[in-house]
Amino acid sequence: MKQILNFINGEFVSTGKQFEKRTPLDNSIIGMVHEAGKTEVDAAVQAAHDALKGPWGKMTVVERTDILNKVADEITRRFDEFLEAECADTGKPKSLASHIDIPRGAANFKIFADVIKNAPTEFFEMATPDGKGALNYAIRRPVGVVGVVCPWNLPLLLMTWKVGPALACGNAVVVKPSEETPSTATLLGEVMNACGVPKGVYNVVHGFGPNSAGEFLTTNQGVNAITFTGETRTGEIINKAAAHGSRPVSLEMGGKNPGIVFADCDMDVAIEATIRSCFANCGQVCLGTERLYVERPIFDEFVARLKAGAEKLKLGVPSDPATNMGPLVSQEHRDKVLSYYKKAVDEGATVVTGGGIPKMPGELANGAWVQPTIWIGLDDSATVVREEIFGPCTTVMPFDSEDEVIKRANNTTYGLAASVFTQNINRAHRVAAQMEVGLVWVNSWFLRDLRTPFGGAKQSGIGREGGVHSLEFYTELKNICIKL
Ligand code: NAD
Repeated sequence: MKQILNFINGEFVSTGKQFEKRTPLDNSIIGMVHEAGKTEVDAAVQAAHDALKGPWGKMTVVERTDILNKVADEITRRFDEFLEAECADTGKPKSLASHIDIPRGAANFKIFADVIKNAPTEFFEMATPDGKGALNYAIRRPVGVVGVVCPWNLPLLLMTWKVGPALACGNAVVVKPSEETPSTATLLGEVMNACGVPKGVYNVVHGFGPNSAGEFLTTNQGVNAITFTGETRTGEIINKAAAHGSRPVSLEMGGKNPGIVFADCDMDVAIEATIRSCFANCGQVCLGTERLYVERPIFDEFVARLKAGAEKLKLGVPSDPATNMGPLVSQEHRDKVLSYYKKAVDEGATVVTGGGIPKMPGELANGAWVQPTIWIGLDDSATVVREEIFGPCTTVMPFDSEDEVIKRANNTTYGLAASVFTQNINRAHRVAAQMEVGLVWVNSWFLRDLRTPFGGAKQSGIGREGGVHSLEFYTELKNICIKL
């Protein structure tokens, strides 16, 4: 049986307490994860502090970024191992993970190596009463040891999206991967050693949230800053933990993202993007669209075409190149998603397609599969229109005017992303600017330039990641004033 170990101070560490890692494909056990206790978490935080005092803390930016470029190349060289591990943990299709998760996992080290080398700071020349003046300039310094708490939906991608900039800025990290997806973070430990990342710079502790590695890490006062991606509820707990010791937090949290389809859209474009935004990664994408507002004249045609697209999706094992939808991440998550499927019907939804568990052959019948699902006949008060489900499902609702749809789209406590489909350029700018979210796509979805700001408004997050925006969190900006 595969043993999935912690990675502390450059070494793989077993513990006396283990939990099963089951694959959602057929619910079979694929590994035993060694849960870190308080002792291991404290050791990881201490190792990270020691690393900052050692060679890592003394490296030039160029030396550090050379190593990070090697890390990216080594992930690419071991692409197939990362791909296998990610697909086994999550059940996602290889066609998706080989296109998104693993290449982005590598790219996150390269992009932030470039950002840190090229980011200028500020300079102000200042007049003083004695006429001699003063010069002000700012320099960036690492914040120290960063606690990185990660979700399961895009495990390597979202973890390196934090670890890449943290290390580029000269910090050391302790990563707590999701208990559902422990493998690629562990594999990255091998890569770090192979590339000469000094011991203690990158650490991984496995376990759960409360009374386990997540809580031990976020409450450890040796952690100087905490970055988190996951549910809003968990983010609030982490925010409270960070308040003790007044430590900075970066929170990327849940969403209930609207898609707005105007009658003047290019229907082919809207359908292609919406099928992805509703069903990609089995609907387990924070940016996914679980509420669709479609202008009344095209409502019936849009629903019919979305239904046809959903029914063409092929559920299957990751290795089948024809597969474009895997299972949900776990049985537990499936129970949650299915409870929403039931609630939608109880509250009066018409099920356009899906709504249940698909028939899967052989052992796969034990997996966490659900059908891609579309509802109509609900209004904005329905539970499935208000709460984040994080499954392959969406509610389609008609609208009649631009003002009406803007109000309805914004009527949520979340504020992560929105997508707008129209060929009227004035309307595109006008509507995009009024969306109360951190990210708007016009005539597309999940088109990401990694230099641009990423993050949520309202209860979807605090702070922005991406490009120079990540530097705001992973560095302390220090002003130096020189009196001449
Ligand atoms: P989750 O909040 O259940 O878990 C995330 C991580 O937090 C896990 O590692 C978990 O072990 C840990 N954790 C849980 N309780 C904790 C505690 N008390 N203290 C410390 N750590 C704790 O989230 P999830 O189910 O893994 O991920 C799905 C959620 O993530 C969805 O809500 C989704 O919208 C969100 N998400 C957001 C973004 C974004 O960029 N905004 C990206 C991906 C996912």
